[in-house]
Amino acid sequence: MRFDTRLVHGGQRPAPGTGALVPPVHVGVAYDRGSQEPLRYFYARGEQPTREDLEECLAGLEDARFATVYSSGQAASATVLSLLGPGARLVAGDDLYGGTHELFELLGERGVEVRRADLAADPDPGPCDLVWVETPSNPLLKIVDVERVARLAHERGALLAVDNTLASPVLQQPLALGADISVYSTTKFIAGHLDVLGGAVVCDEPGLHERFLRYRTVVGNVPGGLDCYLVHRGLKTLAVRVERQVRTAGLVAAALEDHPAVERVLYPGRAGHPGHAVAARQMRAAGALVSFEYRGDPMRLLERVTLFGAAVSLGGVRSLIEVPAAMTHRPVPRATRRRLGITDALVRLSIGIEDPADLVEDLSAALSS
Ligand code: PLP
Repeated sequence: MRFDTRLVHGGQRPAPGTGALVPPVHVGVAYDRGSQEPLRYFYARGEQPTREDLEECLAGLEDARFATVYSSGQAASATVLSLLGPGARLVAGDDLYGGTHELFELLGERGVEVRRADLAADPDPGPCDLVWVETPSNPLLKIVDVERVARLAHERGALLAVDNTLASPVLQQPLALGADISVYSTTKFIAGHLDVLGGAVVCDEPGLHERFLRYRTVVGNVPGGLDCYLVHRGLKTLAVRVERQVRTAGLVAAALEDHPAVERVLYPGRAGHPGHAVAARQMRAAGALVSFEYRGDPMRLLERVTLFGAAVSLGGVRSLIEVPAAMTHRPVPRATRRRLGITDALVRLSIGIEDPADLVEDLSAALSS
């Protein structure tokens, strides 16, 4: 079965008894022992059929044996980071989602040694136990060469985790590129409709999977059945949504490059982007996020657009606009933001599935006024 077919069919066996093509949504938390043969379900914090349908689909998308889903992307990341105890060494890319920065701060407080490195410029993480990469990164859309980092991390005896939220499995397959763990905020492209929070971890190593399952069952950072259903419903249209979103993102990036109110455009699909060649090699397309530096007041721009929602989040059917320094990356200290290049003038767009001409017109009008 090819990728687009797996999206629709994965974890969607007709329900025994009724033949319902969409399996029922399970909401119960407790299961009767006498009604099962063999005995498999006990309590929904541990095992849950609707959750398992979604996990089967997500694992299949990366040709992996295992996936675990969570109540949010942060819950998924925290579960992966639970591999690290006091004294362990984490090396992470320098440009990351603001909430991930905060998770690393918590790790530092618990005695984990956290080092940040520009892995897009130099892929050698140095001595460590876990390497954490986000590519494309949020919000600068830097591209890290996953194959090279994986090779170097493994030479050091370290695992490589890739936060694949911005690409989604339709554009990039971290495990096939050599990573050990793919992490997702399924809130974004995977669910795609800005109406449900979720997270996922995909891996192919039984020992790792057992540790993630144990942590999730004990901590209880699980999603409920209704949320799993919503994520799975959105997932079925991932390929067609993203195809449209990427095409429009390319048009928007080109229009921004030509606009006099724009200082610079960051989009890995443009030839001038420093990660363009690596992105072309490891991604099916450059993604649906476009960042740029505006010559005016970016917060005023947010007031002038009419179709773009002035909101955080990304990857949904509706286009969004945000200013990372004031919104998603506010938790990152100002000095760090400056050093990374997350200026106060940086604007991040998440392109939805609206008519491309409407989006370009809306943005151009707002930039010109
Ligand atoms: N990873 C990335 C790259 C993100 O952009 C986000 C959220 O914006 C997260 C993780 C956290 O996901 P969630 O908001 O679902 O907890």
